[in-house]
Amino acid sequence: MRVPHEGLGAALRHMLRQRDGQLTRELLLTPGGFGLGQVPEKSKPNGTTEMTCGYCSTGCGLTIHLRDGEAISLTPSTEYPVNLGMACPKGWEALEVLRSNDRATTPYLRDASGQLQPVDWPAALDVFCSRFKDIQKRHGPDSLAWIGTGQIPTEELLFLGALAKFGMGILHGDGNTRQCMATSVTAYKQSFGFDSPPFTYRDFEESDVIFLIGSNLCIAHPILWERVLRNKNNPHIIVVDPRRTETAAAATQHVALQPKSDLTLFYGLANILISKGWIKREFIDAHTSGFEALEVFLRDFSPAMTAEKTGISEEMLQRLAQTIHDGKRVSFWWTMGVNQSYEGVRLAQSIINLALMTGNIGRPGTGANSITGQCNAMGSRLFSNTTGLLGGRDFLNAAHRQAVAEILKIDPACIPAQNSLAYDQIIDGMEAGKIKGLWIIATNSAHSWIHQQRFSEARKKLDFLVVQDMYFTTETAAQADLILPAAGWGEKEGTFINSERRIGLIKKVARAPGQALADFYIFKLIAAQWGCAEMFQEFSSPEAIFQIMKKLSAGQPCDITGIADYAHLDACGGIQWPLPAGALPRSDDDPPTPIQERRLFEDGRFFHADGRAKFLFEAPRQMPEPPDAQYPFCLLTGRGSVAQWHTQTRTGKSAVLRKLAPQSVYVEIHPLDAFELKIQHGQPVCIESRRGSVEASAYVSATIQRGQLFVPMHYATVNQLTHCSVDPYSRQPSYKACAVRIRALHSEQIHFVQEATGGQHD
Ligand code: SF4
Repeated sequence: MRVPHEGLGAALRHMLRQRDGQLTRELLLTPGGFGLGQVPEKSKPNGTTEMTCGYCSTGCGLTIHLRDGEAISLTPSTEYPVNLGMACPKGWEALEVLRSNDRATTPYLRDASGQLQPVDWPAALDVFCSRFKDIQKRHGPDSLAWIGTGQIPTEELLFLGALAKFGMGILHGDGNTRQCMATSVTAYKQSFGFDSPPFTYRDFEESDVIFLIGSNLCIAHPILWERVLRNKNNPHIIVVDPRRTETAAAATQHVALQPKSDLTLFYGLANILISKGWIKREFIDAHTSGFEALEVFLRDFSPAMTAEKTGISEEMLQRLAQTIHDGKRVSFWWTMGVNQSYEGVRLAQSIINLALMTGNIGRPGTGANSITGQCNAMGSRLFSNTTGLLGGRDFLNAAHRQAVAEILKIDPACIPAQNSLAYDQIIDGMEAGKIKGLWIIATNSAHSWIHQQRFSEARKKLDFLVVQDMYFTTETAAQADLILPAAGWGEKEGTFINSERRIGLIKKVARAPGQALADFYIFKLIAAQWGCAEMFQEFSSPEAIFQIMKKLSAGQPCDITGIADYAHLDACGGIQWPLPAGALPRSDDDPPTPIQERRLFEDGRFFHADGRAKFLFEAPRQMPEPPDAQYPFCLLTGRGSVAQWHTQTRTGKSAVLRKLAPQSVYVEIHPLDAFELKIQHGQPVCIESRRGSVEASAYVSATIQRGQLFVPMHYATVNQLTHCSVDPYSRQPSYKACAVRIRALHSEQIHFVQEATGGQHD
């Protein structure tokens, strides 16, 4: 099925010569052009090179061992300031998953009989543009959308967002980052005036009290847990989570609250701190606004009421408040247990409020700190052109549009003066028949979207679905009309931005298989075919786009004009934003040295116009689908093991990683619930919600509370159960709690226990 490179080259030469001679020269004469097998000449030695891992937002450094310029193995970087010589199993296996035999090696187009057939790139580009243009012509600019990712480099995200919105006139684009960190983005923007996680990983080692909220750090961010273990202050580690997770079991205190009672918990704690005078009045007066109104609002959250709603005793509440008060350096960290909630923004802000009122921000070992999921979630936040205009700007602000137009040398009228629909609204638009064409890049919506069947039903109403991915076997690729084969991490270059705002480099150390291309080159070809290549002439390489990123960041809180180039990033072990020009004077003769880890708000100035952080709050709401007589259990979902990544598109390809995680769907159930329902450990069971049913094996364990069930998120069927509710401010879906029931299956009732086959999604 593979088309020889020569054939592709000839076809593209012919096609592009007609249209854009310069592009032809750029792509075909560049060493390693098109990513068709060659590795750039300059990186062909034997030896090692350093780059950032491409899975999670920890952003570990990996040392790649090369032979003739190509990767043969890897080890964790010992000098990289993030991981200090450590890596989790996913990082160790990062090269292995590139070699899977279900890589997309050629474009595929669905034929009249409904079968996906291999086609060459010219045919794929022609159908991509002609179908999308036709839809746009017939139905208008609202009729197309794209869904991107936090898994590709920032330069490619910027190119995609600029190409789609400014070049192709597609109004609506969002990313799978909506599923993981949109809540934190909105919470920070509203509270601090900019999406600005304030911490540096060293804060894990410098706290004396560490709150982990809705975060199973041990397995979700194992290297960050290692950083906690390096803390020499013998810290209190307090885990707030309904489940006794691996992290909760290792903590000094586990706060096993009722699901979705966390907002009440933090309001109740704030009320105790205020009533006892355990707040930093000087900091509040000098650096915040809205405290008086918060004080009044919190009076309703008495210890008795908080205890009743959360299931946490008043004694424990008092003890928690005392621990915060006694701590000299208290840090609050959260992940998806907070973000993936129908009231996640206010919940994140209730944590931010605690840090602000106790002065635990801007100092070593402190902070209200969101840890994100994907390797480039932060790059997506700042430069994807989806929820915000490039560089942390606002589509609704004419001055911002003008500034971006000047930097990109484009007509400001090309920049939409409206926001994109969010992911869930794009699916609503598909359901309503308004969105007719969808372009999905490096994500697997058919697996990972909440209430999964809705996506697949809405897809049937599309006229044309394009999936651009490394693998042709994802659930979403299986539904595509056109598949564009993409290179992966290690097969292209660019930058990722990790959770602590560190910009790290990835490099091309392996050949992409067959005709798979770096997303950068796919966007370049689409621009040429669409007829807007001129707009992106300066987008000549990923590093050229990095220079444009710098210009877009100038004067913004995320200013990176002080970073010279990729070599500077490489020499410094990555660099955190911000780094404005002149912040660290150095002459060209000085060897670049690692730049000390930095945190935000050390001067007490926030990004709102008045320089103050805002206290924001709102009354807790009822869970959208609470357990009831018909569906009496609350279903929790989350990460299952350190060896699985999201929907296992990549991790499912590694034999080593498959051995490290259960291959079949399982459900944690409390022993007393299992006893009452006559469910044995290991027995097949059926879990049902109002949306579907899933077969699993029972894992009887007191790690889960009575009345609750837990199923890992990685298996293909799990989102058949979840309930589609979203936070009203961030529109992030609430994956963590819905009503289900469970029953034992007897041999004649067992259809299957879903196998985790891999090939699923990030
Ligand atoms: Fe990669 Fe994350 Fe594992 Fe580090 S912790 S090696 S970044 S997957």
